[in-house]
Parts: sequence; C-alpha cells; structure tokens
Amino acid sequence: MIVMKFGGTSVESAAAIERVASIVKARVARQPVVVVSAMGKTTNRLLAIAAKSAEGKREEGIKLAVELRDFHLREARPVVLDSDWPIVESAIQDHFQEIAELARALAVVGEITPRLTDAISSYGERISSIVVTYAFRRAGMDAVHVDSRHVVVTDNRHTQATPKFAESYSRLAAAIPPLAQRHVVVMGGFIASAENGITTTLGRGGSDFTASIVGAGIGAEEIEIWTDVDGMLTGDPRVIDGVRRVKSISFGEAAELAYFGAKVLHPATVLPAVEKNIPVLILNSRRPEVEGTRIVSESVPCTNVIKSIACKRNIALVNITSSRMLMAHGFLRRIFEVFDRFQTPVDMVATSEVSVSLTIDNTTRLKEITTELEEFAEVNVEQNQAIVCLVGDSIRSTPGVASRIFRALSEINIGMISQGASLLNFGFVVSEADLPRAVAALHSEFFAEVDPAVFD
Ligand code: ADP
Ligand code: ASP
Ligand code: MG
Repeated sequence: MIVMKFGGTSVESAAAIERVASIVKARVARQPVVVVSAMGKTTNRLLAIAAKSAEGKREEGIKLAVELRDFHLREARPVVLDSDWPIVESAIQDHFQEIAELARALAVVGEITPRLTDAISSYGERISSIVVTYAFRRAGMDAVHVDSRHVVVTDNRHTQATPKFAESYSRLAAAIPPLAQRHVVVMGGFIASAENGITTTLGRGGSDFTASIVGAGIGAEEIEIWTDVDGMLTGDPRVIDGVRRVKSISFGEAAELAYFGAKVLHPATVLPAVEKNIPVLILNSRRPEVEGTRIVSESVPCTNVIKSIACKRNIALVNITSSRMLMAHGFLRRIFEVFDRFQTPVDMVATSEVSVSLTIDNTTRLKEITTELEEFAEVNVEQNQAIVCLVGDSIRSTPGVASRIFRALSEINIGMISQGASLLNFGFVVSEADLPRAVAALHSEFFAEVDPAVFD
C-alpha cells in the first residue's frame, strides 16, 4: 500500500482531477490510498462565507455559497459518468444546503466559534473526496470513499486538533487495508472527529498530516505528497527566483523547513512517518515525470552546508524587558505562562541580561498577552517582521557558516538571531520589506554551486 495525497491545486478543476486519476491509475498495483484536499481555494471561501454570515452580511455569504456550489457542480460534471451524476449532484446540493443552514445559524448567533469554523471548513474535503471517488470510477478504477472522520480521531481543540494516534491507528488498520486490497480508497484530508463524534480539523494545510497519519496507521510503504511544485526547493518560489529542487533531505531537515514556513509540507507531517520509518516523497501533479524530493530517515551527505532556506512572513517580534534591573528568577517562566494561557506558540527566542525577544506568528491574542506582560515587564512589539531560517544538518559542525550569512546580509538590518537547539537551523528576523533581498542574497551565497547528487 502507498498513500498518495493531492493538494488543493492538484484537484482545482476537472482537468486537474483527470490528471490525478491518470497518476493514480498508473500506480494501482501498489494499492494506493488517496487523500485529497478541498478543491482549489475552497477552504478560504468557506471561511469567508462563515465570516460574512457572522458579521451579519447574510446576502453576501449566500452569494459566495452559491458561487462555490456552482464551481463544484461545473468542475465535477465532466469527470463523473452520466450514470453516477445524479448521486454526485445530489451530494453536492445536499452539502451546500447544510452550509446554507450553518450560515443562517451564524447570522443569528453573530459570532463564529472554533467548533462552527470546523463544521463549515470541513465541507471542502467532504465534497472533494466524493467527486474524486466518482472521477476515479469514470477513469476505470474501482474506487471507494471512506469518511476520514470515522478513522482519524483527535482531541477537541477545534481548528488545531491533535490526533489521538493510538485510536486513529487502530481504526485505520482495521478499516483500510482490507478495502485497499480490491479498491482504490479515497479520503478527505484535514478533517477528523473528536471522540464525541463532533467534526474537527487538523489546522490549515492539514491534509499532508492526514496523509502521514493514514500512512503510519496502515503501515504504508511510502507516503507521496503531490503538489504544484517539483518538490522541496532551495527557497520559497513565491519570494525569490532561481530556486532548485532538493532531491533528498532528512526528516529532521524537512520538519524544520516546514515549521519555519516551507508551506509545501505541514510541519507535523514527518512525525508519524519518522516513527514508522516510512519514506515521504514530494511530487508535482503537473509534472509527474519529475522525481521530486525524497524525505528519508538518515542524513544526506552533501557538499553544500545549507539544504534550503525557509521563510515566514507576518511575524510579530515581541521584546520584553524586566522592570527590575536584572532578571529575577522566574521571569522566563512568567513570560511563557502568559503565552501558554493564550494558546499562542512561540517560534524563536533570544535572551539577554534584562530582556527576552521572541517571535509569534499568531497575533490574534497579542493585545491580551501584552496587557498581562505589562504587569511585570516593559513590552515593545514590532509588527510586519519575517523569519528567515537556513536549514542543513551539518550547520553546527561546519565552521564559517555564520560569517557567510552575515557577509551576505551586510546591508540588511537583523532583528534577532537564533541558532536552533535542534543543531540544524540558523534563523533570524528581518523586516518584511527586506525579506526578498535577504533571501536572494543568502541564496546566491549558499547555492551558487550545488552538489549535483543532492540538487537538480
Ligand atoms: P498543496 O495545496 O498541494 O498542499 P501548498 O500551497 O500547501 O500546496 O504548498 C505548495 C506551495 O508551497 C508551493 O506552491 C510553493 O509556493 C510553497 N513553498 C514555500 N516554500 C517552499 C519550498 N521550500 N519548497 C517548495 N515549495 C515551497
Ligand atoms: N483544505 C485545507 C486548507 O486549505 C487543508 C489542506 O489543503 O491541506 O488548509
Ligand atoms: Mg498544503
């Protein structure tokens, strides 16, 4: 068995779904279990419907829902057999009926809770997985649909739920392998359910995580993440030009890159795969002939010290200075307790004698956090910052890396520096305005020459 996960752009249209069908068909002998994202930008649109409705702009919400329904009907029609169309059409209509009811409830309540957010955002994957199942049948495959909410179990932290691995693995192991022997199994990514059966989601970009949970649960030989780029690249293609494909990379390096902004992989994806030592591949559904990136358990020998540069925009840098002259003991604990209480993860930290600087990317609770911190410290927040993170598992053992980084950035103001405890990253903060210039300079410094065994 292999798991094949197709992201939003890979199923964004009838033509894209047909490409997916032909990719899967070519691998039917390996018993594929297919995990799909919502079609195109559907999750964003569903969240916009929820937001408009809760703001009382019901008409706008309904208009968006009608457009989204028509998009699904239009793209699904050509990929489904005439004889199956009544089933698929009524599934789409019924799901949008439920979306309209949820939108109505949101308009009445005037507030959107995390649980309702999950309820509404789950429809993208619920619908796409049905459409793809029937598209596979039209392509001549014996496909069956499995509702992921029956096999992936999480806690009830809505919009960011954490899987209950043991329970999910045992349900997956019982349900999927017998089906996969004779059928191509199709499931929606991202969605799951809490133990009380209420729908949850694994966080934005969470379909990758579903793929690796499923892979670990069924003991897959391989987990393939099919997306819209050739694999893990040496930099973010949305930020700089001239990036190259990384042919293979270690689990540790990939996890670090994902955590620090390489959107191509959800940060939690490698976890289940590492545990079961299942290789993960990143592949391009528009260019299936390209080998992609192989993520493996052992480290990859390479003459380049850096494998890739990740970056994350929209970061807030929080500088906290102790009101006393010197840091009293317990100062750090008090700081982190505040962030913890407001469920805000801290990405990077640096300390000096009297101050602590840290970065967060979720600023929804920042006001409350600042108010609490100001009870015992001075707080200054710099918005519109970006993290740049260079990753390579020989950074620590290679002399001269920091000096090369600083030389490349000699014209740029650096806000904060951190060499990760993981030993394989070097991260710092710059203003968003400086980000493209900083990444381009670093990319020229570290990838002017590349090891042909590791980079394309
Ligand atoms: P999917 O919908 O298939 O899950 P995503 O949009 O979540 O795809 O992730 C793929 C995108 O990640 C690419 O289009 C690319 O712009 C972005 N990306 C950012 N950093 C990297 C990187 N280092 N390597 C590859 N892609 C990256
Ligand atoms: N559809 C979800 C999202 O847009 C999950 C995913 O695509 O991985 O975040
Ligand atoms: Mg993604």
